[in-house]
Amino acid sequence: MRAYAGYRVGRPWHFALFLTAALSAAASRAQARLQVGFAQADITPDVTRPVWLAGFGTGRKATGIHDHLFVRVVVLSDGEKRIALACADLIGLQYPETVRIRRESKGVDYVLVASTHNHAGPDVVGLWGPTPRESGLDPQYLDLVVHRTAKAIRDACARMQAAKACYGTAMNRSLLKDVRLPVALDPVLRVLAFHHPGDDRLLGIVVQWNCHPESMDSGNTLITADFVKWTVDQLHRRYGVPIVYVSGAIGGLLTTPDEMRIGGRTFKTGQWGFAEAYGRAVGQLAEEALQNAEPVNVTPISVAARPLVVPVVNGRYQTAHRLKVLHRPAREWTGDPEKGGRVVQPGVATQRMGVETEVACLRLGQLWVAAIPGELYPEMMYGQFQNPAEANVDFPHAPLEPTVTGLFRDRPFLFIGLANDEIGYILPKRQWDSEPPFAYGRSKPQYGEANSVGPDTAPVLMNALCRRAAELGAPGARGTEGNEYRSGG
Ligand SMILES: [Zn+2]
Repeated sequence: MRAYAGYRVGRPWHFALFLTAALSAAASRAQARLQVGFAQADITPDVTRPVWLAGFGTGRKATGIHDHLFVRVVVLSDGEKRIALACADLIGLQYPETVRIRRESKGVDYVLVASTHNHAGPDVVGLWGPTPRESGLDPQYLDLVVHRTAKAIRDACARMQAAKACYGTAMNRSLLKDVRLPVALDPVLRVLAFHHPGDDRLLGIVVQWNCHPESMDSGNTLITADFVKWTVDQLHRRYGVPIVYVSGAIGGLLTTPDEMRIGGRTFKTGQWGFAEAYGRAVGQLAEEALQNAEPVNVTPISVAARPLVVPVVNGRYQTAHRLKVLHRPAREWTGDPEKGGRVVQPGVATQRMGVETEVACLRLGQLWVAAIPGELYPEMMYGQFQNPAEANVDFPHAPLEPTVTGLFRDRPFLFIGLANDEIGYILPKRQWDSEPPFAYGRSKPQYGEANSVGPDTAPVLMNALCRRAAELGAPGARGTEGNEYRSGG
């Protein structure tokens, strides 16, 4: 439909430039101070209590455990600053839990708490209880996740050792399906691996891939980490080191293909053989990315992160807040994302509902990290926008949002979705289409808007990412501090 912007695959040309020009003696000394530590914790719920599974419809009660859920952690230090990245096999830990985990993680300057968006784990949001009017949240389970995540961060800190880093990518479009028009996806798997500086032995791997972990489908009622279990298993078996798996831009909606082949057999979604085959295929793609990897200097570490408020106009979320189905407090929307209004407790009605969340940008030496609190539509990775807009959309003249590769250009980066929060779908505003007549000649709206807090989510979050990236001197964000980024004129 629209041409894809250039992906960086394999051994991108720019690494040659980095290694000859940018890896100065000072940078080498900083790299020499790099320390890394890994740990994980089991966060499988107790299924002798009612466990409501999140991600599809309501009323899906867990009937047992197929495989265990984990939170996987990596901690990095440049000798001065220490940061942690934790990622849980859950639908999406909420910002209040991120704040609690940070409070329990003393001695770490910045903690990023992400979720894989697993659709076969307990409800940690509230929306997937026995009925739409009852919360599926178990506060006792949330406490367990908070404490074990903080403990895993402390464990990773205790295991820190000297390291050097490398970064690589590999691409496979056939492992993804976009179920919404226009077709746009991020087919690039990214790895950041750490080695011992002396003997080169591998110490651990961070893997970023961009697909909904929902391959077991809505019929499954067993707890599982979905395909991520087999991706992590495959890489652990191959390399014998800790793996931290994170989800990238999965909105839109990016899901698995309908069938996979393994051992001469064909499996369909909803079959365990499918989850295994898909997970192993992603593991193989990660192996390919590792083979392509080149040294990257990931120190010094700097972080730009700030809370902000996003307006909530979705009636379903407003009702869930009023019914206390959503457990997190709201913030009054003031019209300025960086100036939150008063706190509005669940159960209290408000005319101007907003949700407090966080956008972060990290600069790890040569590597950039974007952290967005939900399911970003991949259009905003590379700028695969409909331009001009499709006929009949609600905001055909909305400015195009800043894009991730627009900000980071050709530099190596990781994109972490569901980072520190999960507020739902993040659609390009120009694609928003909830009022008839509908785009593409459809008689019904496409699936997506129902799971988004509103049409201004993407502009608010991506403009905030642009400002955070500008604070750190990102190549495509320079000179934009304090201004709303405008792209496409
Ligand atoms: Zn989703």
